[in-house]
Amino acid sequence: MAGLIQIVYFAAAALFILGLKRMSSPKTARSGIVWAGAGMALATLVTFLYPGLSNYLLILVAIGVGSYAAWVSGKKVAMTDMPQMIAIYNGMGGGAAACIAAVELLKGGSHGAVHALLGVLGALIGAVSFSGSVVAWAKLDGRMKKAIRFPRQKLVNLGVFVLALLFGLIVMGASQPGAFSIIAFFLLALAFGAMMALPIGGADMPVVISLFNAFTGLAVAFEGYVMQNAAMIIAGTVVGAAGSLLTQLMAKAMNRPISNVLFSNFGGGSGATAEEEVKGSMKASEPQDAAVMMAYAAKVIIVPGYGMAVAQAQHKVWELAELLEENSVEVKFAIHPVAGRMPGHMNVLLAEAGVPYDKIFDLDEINNEFASTDVVLVIGANDVVNPVAKSDPNSPIYGMPVLNADQARNVLVIKRGQGAGFSGIENHLFYLDNTRMVYGDAQKVLAELIGFVKTL
Ligand code: NDP
Repeated sequence: MAGLIQIVYFAAAALFILGLKRMSSPKTARSGIVWAGAGMALATLVTFLYPGLSNYLLILVAIGVGSYAAWVSGKKVAMTDMPQMIAIYNGMGGGAAACIAAVELLKGGSHGAVHALLGVLGALIGAVSFSGSVVAWAKLDGRMKKAIRFPRQKLVNLGVFVLALLFGLIVMGASQPGAFSIIAFFLLALAFGAMMALPIGGADMPVVISLFNAFTGLAVAFEGYVMQNAAMIIAGTVVGAAGSLLTQLMAKAMNRPISNVLFSNFGGGSGATAEEEVKGSMKASEPQDAAVMMAYAAKVIIVPGYGMAVAQAQHKVWELAELLEENSVEVKFAIHPVAGRMPGHMNVLLAEAGVPYDKIFDLDEINNEFASTDVVLVIGANDVVNPVAKSDPNSPIYGMPVLNADQARNVLVIKRGQGAGFSGIENHLFYLDNTRMVYGDAQKVLAELIGFVKTL
């Protein structure tokens, strides 16, 4: 039976890897989720065959409650609330790994140094990931002030981390660790995770969530070793590696080293000097004028952002693009790596609306084309087209690569009013001489634009 269980665990792990591979392209992403889900179902089912397994009722109740909560929240969640959901689910994974470690540590008994080391490391990383992810969720959900900072914060955090390590060593060294050491170790690890996330704010949150995701993977892999469970080791390693790569990619997209994301305030500015003052004024345009400008352009680049997701305007955007193409306008879509509220947010929405992949371009691919573009249509995007990121060292977003919308001959911006972007700062693009604001909800304005283009 043990052999069969291990074979099924390997099959489940293979499904996780193949599922992840399929998730790398929007075309196959949905089926990738199904494959990985099938792997998880297989691994869960075969665990019931484990010799000596008891507490069947408790396990079934836990699976029932977990599945129901996941089903309901998965059905209900709005696309714009996905990052919070990912943060809290990831936290659950870290918490589960820490709980497994707690049970193993309480059991005691010596299984060798490697076993003890990985058990304690998994517990530490899992607990940090759990409490850090809960703070990230609270911040993204608007339940907590964006960034909480106090004097000597880094020193206090370091102190808590060192204490957690110390208790970890005590727990590791004892063949039968006492309850006090175990509880102190977990409380300190949980406190460190929360304290690590507290000072981080603004646009750094996606990177932090991704980093905690990598932590969770690592914790699960370590506890998999402790439990001698191949599926856990492989799944944990895959999540750890994918999370680390994503963290690196996102930090690169914001032009920030990870250390800078974790240990300093957002942006490269010292904070000693005030941000550059915005010059000029915002100039409004009627949808009719905007429609004429686009219909007679040779080339239009569309830049979608968070506001497009809020307005659920992706279908209207594609309808407008198709109409423009019928008028012989070349239309391209420019996607910033952190546009919206989660990696790939815009790609998913545009794919849902049927925009062909060959019309969608990443920042690196399209940034040189703005200078030769007649009209850039910015739809509910803000931070990702803010030129101060290139020009003002005192700006909180200084250094983040942005789309060069400011270089285009004309810029049209659809947004509801004077609302700031995620980072809360003024956007100098909106004040440029060649920029016109078309105020209103993205879906409504796009419907009007479509109507006017049709009459031309
Ligand atoms: P921003 O959040 O910077 O700006 C969105 C703009 O959309 C706002 O200025 C708002 O202005 C407008 N808007 C909101 N609702 C509507 C609507 N219904 N119709 C029209 N406009 C609307 O978006 P970006 O995509 O430019 O930038 C994303 C930001 O989020 C970055 O700072 C990024 O770092 C951060 N972030 C990214 C994550 C990711 O992984 N992608 C995760 C978490 C944060 P108004 O109120 O005036 O309408």
